Amino acid sequence: MEAEKMDKIVSLCKRRGFVFQGSEIYGGLKGTWDLGPLGVALNNNIKREWWKMFVESREDMYGLDAAILMNAKAWEASGHVAGFVDPLVEDLETGERFRADHLLKDNGIEAEGLTLEQIDDKIAEHGIKSPKGNSLSKARTFNMMFETRIGATSGPEGQVYLRPETAGGIFVNFKNVVDSMSPKLPFGIAQIGKAFRNEIAPREFLFRVREFEQMEIEYFVRPNEWEEKFEDLRQAILAWCDHIGLKRENVKEYRVPDNDLAHYSKRTIDFEYNFPGKGFDELYGFAYRTDFDLRAHAMHSGVALEYVEADGTKVVPHVLEPSFGIGRTFVAVLAEAYREEEVNGEVRTFISLPVHLAPYRAAVSPLLKNKPELVAKAREVFMMLKKQFGNVAWDDNGNIGKRYRRQDEIGTPHCIVIDFETLGQEAAELKDTVTVRNRDTGTQERVQIAELAAYIAN
Ligand code: ATP
Repeated sequence: MEAEKMDKIVSLCKRRGFVFQGSEIYGGLKGTWDLGPLGVALNNNIKREWWKMFVESREDMYGLDAAILMNAKAWEASGHVAGFVDPLVEDLETGERFRADHLLKDNGIEAEGLTLEQIDDKIAEHGIKSPKGNSLSKARTFNMMFETRIGATSGPEGQVYLRPETAGGIFVNFKNVVDSMSPKLPFGIAQIGKAFRNEIAPREFLFRVREFEQMEIEYFVRPNEWEEKFEDLRQAILAWCDHIGLKRENVKEYRVPDNDLAHYSKRTIDFEYNFPGKGFDELYGFAYRTDFDLRAHAMHSGVALEYVEADGTKVVPHVLEPSFGIGRTFVAVLAEAYREEEVNGEVRTFISLPVHLAPYRAAVSPLLKNKPELVAKAREVFMMLKKQFGNVAWDDNGNIGKRYRRQDEIGTPHCIVIDFETLGQEAAELKDTVTVRNRDTGTQERVQIAELAAYIAN
């Protein structure tokens, strides 16, 4: 049932212009997806709401938009060149590659934190084969950073990486933000942008891809206040989940056990979402990274990365890092909002998106498209709302029932219809009123045109 729901969401995404396979006419490019007109709208709404909540509505957050290409030394300092690896095994017959820890997990074996030797032992002990039933190679590590070259030189100085997370750009700009903005500690630097990981086996729609977007914060604190601020940010992440409509019962916190923590982390919580057909899996990560990053970048760059307190004391701030994947948010939001309902023996599908995320907040239609007086009035209403809100659709395709079904499927909260009553041809008291149909209940109300904007505002 749940797997079927995910398939339906994926197919709706394609059919209705949310998400297309990357490079589709050339047979696709694995691990890439393109956002269609409605996908861009939903994605932008997610980013705008996040920015409003985590940056604009707070006094302790500063925005940043750093370059994707960075000096390779930054990724040496952060440990990514040496250690941003996943364990890989190959099907010895077909050469197909798999993530060894995922293969173990798919076979019901806990794989977190295992060494390569331990992975080999588990594979032998449980007789694990590739999904095609063939023997597997020994496990080895695979670095997930995409490499590319910059400039016309062919030497090692031209070697650069596509950033595997946006966080790197924040750490290298720590001093710039402190010097230019004089923030008071504790404070955060937030960034939204693309990240690239050469995932061994991209899968599950937008869940694991090779090019994706992240919304990240590095929150700098005094060493002795990390626990209090960790709790504040934990609550802020939960408030965000509420804001985008995720039910609390579908969001679970998984505290990574101390023995599985990265060597620099003192506490990490994964916020998991109950993805249809998949169950609970990581939606967001939230880690206390101590002063590891600032110290490492200071050491490798030779530039002091410190904060000077009012009394002149220098501290190297510690860091809390909430990291939000936008693709996983996109899927979670759609999964949560997807509804099917039987009406007169037919299934009505609608996406009950919160109005602040819906691609269109309203669609405007003339009852009949061959009646110029209805069309003219409808265009007038449409232009008025479009000017104010932007994301308002004009829809005169097919009959009204078809239009409602289409708008239901793309999550439009309100459908506004201009009919003969609007023109005052039926009853004088209904002149300048329109029908507004509610996506979730299917009920209709007459609303004065003058009150429409307020009606669809929330
Ligand atoms: P996973 O364990 O699922 O590989 P991760 O722990 O490596 O994820 P982080 O490095 O914590 O992920 O990245 C932060 C967030 O970025 C994740 O919680 C997720 O939302 C998103 N993310 C990471 N990798 C991918 C990917 N390949 N495709 C889509 N989103 C991703």
